[in-house]
Amino acid sequence: MRWEELVSEPEVLSNWIGGERRAPFGGQYLDDFEPATGELLARIPDSGSEDVELAVAAAADAFPEWSGRSLQERARCLERLADLVAERAETLAGIESADTGKPLALARQIDMARVEANLRFFAGAAQHWPTEAHDMGQQGLNYTRREPLGVVALITPWNLPLYLLSWKLAPALMTGNCVVAKPSELTPLSADALWDLANQAGIPPGVINLVHGSGTRCGQALVDHPAIKAISFTGGTQTGRTIATAAAPRLVKTSLELGGKNPALVFADADLDRTVAGLVRAGYTNQGQVCLCCSRILVDEDLKDALTQRLADAVSNLKVGDPNLVDTDQGALISADHQQKVLDYMDLAGEEGGRILCGGKALNPEGRCQQGYFVEPTLISDLPADSRLHFEEIFGPVVTVQSFASEDEGIALANSVDYGLAATVWTRDLATAHRVAGRVQAGLVWINGWLVRDLRTPFGGMKDSGLGREGGRWSLEFFTETKNIHLPSGF
Ligand code: NAD
Repeated sequence: MRWEELVSEPEVLSNWIGGERRAPFGGQYLDDFEPATGELLARIPDSGSEDVELAVAAAADAFPEWSGRSLQERARCLERLADLVAERAETLAGIESADTGKPLALARQIDMARVEANLRFFAGAAQHWPTEAHDMGQQGLNYTRREPLGVVALITPWNLPLYLLSWKLAPALMTGNCVVAKPSELTPLSADALWDLANQAGIPPGVINLVHGSGTRCGQALVDHPAIKAISFTGGTQTGRTIATAAAPRLVKTSLELGGKNPALVFADADLDRTVAGLVRAGYTNQGQVCLCCSRILVDEDLKDALTQRLADAVSNLKVGDPNLVDTDQGALISADHQQKVLDYMDLAGEEGGRILCGGKALNPEGRCQQGYFVEPTLISDLPADSRLHFEEIFGPVVTVQSFASEDEGIALANSVDYGLAATVWTRDLATAHRVAGRVQAGLVWINGWLVRDLRTPFGGMKDSGLGREGGRWSLEFFTETKNIHLPSGF
């Protein structure tokens, strides 16, 4: 089944407010392009404050009934939605691949598998989340309740659209909140499809609302709305700062999952086969457009030549092209603007005397994807130490290599950027692994691996990579207010 069969009017999307499709008040629409072809895929509401107002009001109306339901009743809704996602996984993967430019196989294996897992995980996790009690003996007992916040805003980026939206939606709903979500204007389609399924799953009207539009107009109106009790945001660091600034005067809770410039620290004793395979995944998955991608390889100087040679060969073998083909490793970048930004960094690398070990150019595949936004997977070494390519998030298939003479120097390089989201450490020595993992400034560290996820663990970054953590009890805590109640030992 093609995705057009899932949505009634694929060319012109609507908002979802109070369980119904609603055209935007102003009647204005934005274009949504297919990155692999450059063709117009859909038109989406250019929503403003009136649309946001209606969505927040619908969520507020639905809140008393939804928050009054038992955990089991809410879990049943999420499980039904997960069943529908599983049934429609192929359609949803097609939508996500068309809207993002990522390989269809990746959308199937990573994105849609994770959407279903997110829904089922939080349906269970919230039911197994214990409440606390503190016994004071003669002075009585304290018990702690977790109460829903009310109407919460979920704002998400384009690189993992439904994966990240469902990662926020599931804990927000399980804790009894009602939601207004704003997906990226570059990838609106999968959220629209999910809302359709949510209706079928019996999530009551108004519990989840969806407003489409630009960040500066629709997103900002949502962030500024006085009834919003929390903002869960994933996106760029600069946008995170803008949101934190808007939320601060009202003391609105924010969870900020932001950018990264993640190091891979490779020591001389690393298993080369395993490391090369891991670095290809860590550097280039989703065309390097994953916040966790390790775009900086820091390698012991004794291993540098052997590693870069092997890595360049492996990266050159990645197949770039039509996301629908089964053997495609790399699809298109998200937009023409983003493609140009990535190419500008490559030009800068050339001007600075960097050695392009492979890639370095735009690419126009034969056939239907000739006008798509493709870039060759690129590996660059020998840049000056202060090159912007070492410090700025490029968010594309561009990885740089630097060498270090000692562990201290490697750690200093790893920690020299403003970001602190993730890091990988490659070594056969357990003591080195623990020591380095402890010293690197990152919220997530993988040893001899990358992106091995356990949904119970804390996820998030330090420094400019964000504030707060998502996952397991961290998500459940974020979406609730804590109340302690004291009972005397006798009345
Ligand atoms: P972005 O910050 O441009 O946009 C993210 C979302 O915020 C979009 O929905 C956008 O419309 C909205 N937005 C923009 N301005 C806004 C405003 N003033 N008020 C409210 N909403 C606003 O980010 P992007 O380009 O979509 O995504 C790429 C970035 O996301 C990268 O920096 C990447 O590292 C980061 N990211 C982080 C994580 C993580 O978990 N830490 C995960 C994925 C992506």
